[in-house]
Amino acid sequence: MSEYDVIIVGNGPAGLSAALYTSRAGLSTLVIGKDQGALAKAERIENYFGMAEPISGCELVENTKIQARNLGADLVTDEIFHISWNQGFTLEGRAGSYQAKAVLLATGSARKKADIDGISRLEGHGVSYCAICDAFFYRGRKVAVLGNEEYAVHELGQLLPVAGSAVLLTNGQELQADAPEGVPVMTGRIRSIDGQEEVTGVTFEDGSRIELDGLFVALGSAGAVDLARKIGALTDGRKIETDESMATNVPGLYAAGDCTGGLLQISTAVGEGAKAAMSMIKFVRQQKKE
Ligand SMILES: Cc1cc2nc3c(=O)[nH]c(=O)nc-3n(C[C@H](O)[C@H](O)[C@H](O)COP(=O)(O)OP(=O)(O)OC[C@H]3O[C@@H](n4cnc5c(N)ncnc54)[C@H](O)[C@@H]3O)c2cc1C
Repeated sequence: MSEYDVIIVGNGPAGLSAALYTSRAGLSTLVIGKDQGALAKAERIENYFGMAEPISGCELVENTKIQARNLGADLVTDEIFHISWNQGFTLEGRAGSYQAKAVLLATGSARKKADIDGISRLEGHGVSYCAICDAFFYRGRKVAVLGNEEYAVHELGQLLPVAGSAVLLTNGQELQADAPEGVPVMTGRIRSIDGQEEVTGVTFEDGSRIELDGLFVALGSAGAVDLARKIGALTDGRKIETDESMATNVPGLYAAGDCTGGLLQISTAVGEGAKAAMSMIKFVRQQKKE
């Protein structure tokens, strides 16, 4: 597995803008994206600089992908589930693992949290957002993963060797991935996550209940806040906290675009991507000197 100078998670305006700068600065750059992000739904963009005629979001992204490739960036389609640090960053995706000296999270706006009674109150008291980080605390205990896509299955894979038992809860959604063999899948809608001080179980809309010691939330894909949490970067639960250079509190980890909040527009994302790139260029050059 070769190490890149920079890995950018997200191939929207923020991620691709950053890639233009890091590639032109001679840094080996990999951009990883799972789809076209927010712009996939934007049929007509007419408020971005230089658009004599409106352009679709898809066309804008595809044009910039070509531009980034022409400048030397590598682009892959993959979904990142986990990020960790040990003498450099390691990112784990559906298709493989990737290593880099610096990482930019540019994964777009945070997904909505599951609106289930008790879930926010019990965060950190049995409700977790990171299986690799917290599986250890549930050795031999009963856990559930909440989700219905590949990310949920990935989190289950982290828990199964450690937990006493594990179940997958889809909260009324259709399962869109293959559950690991032998793991029960419960598709009922959830009324509440139960417990006063700690999670004790889950009650379903039909009144039935299961007992649990821990609930791991893995809805949709791992969003910016999920990934940030896995590596100890500060968030306010909806967006990643950065300084004015787009640096997080984790050295070498940066964030840009909708995932940092503020004005959720292409121009802002592009500007933040450029700023983050300048910071990463400085960081990586410093690393290479040491
Ligand atoms: C319908 C609609 C219309 C809009 N119209 C306009 C407009 O006219 N003008 C304007 O300025 N703004 C518009 N916006 C807002 C604009 O699209 C966003 O502000 C902008 O796309 C944010 O860029 P971003 O790079 O931060 O995130 P995004 O464009 O959302 O890109 C996020 C990227 O992260 C990737 N990703 C996410 N999670 C993972 C993961 N776990 N692993 C790998 N990759 C991941 C996605 O595949 C995607 O490539 C519109 C938004 C919508 C939804």
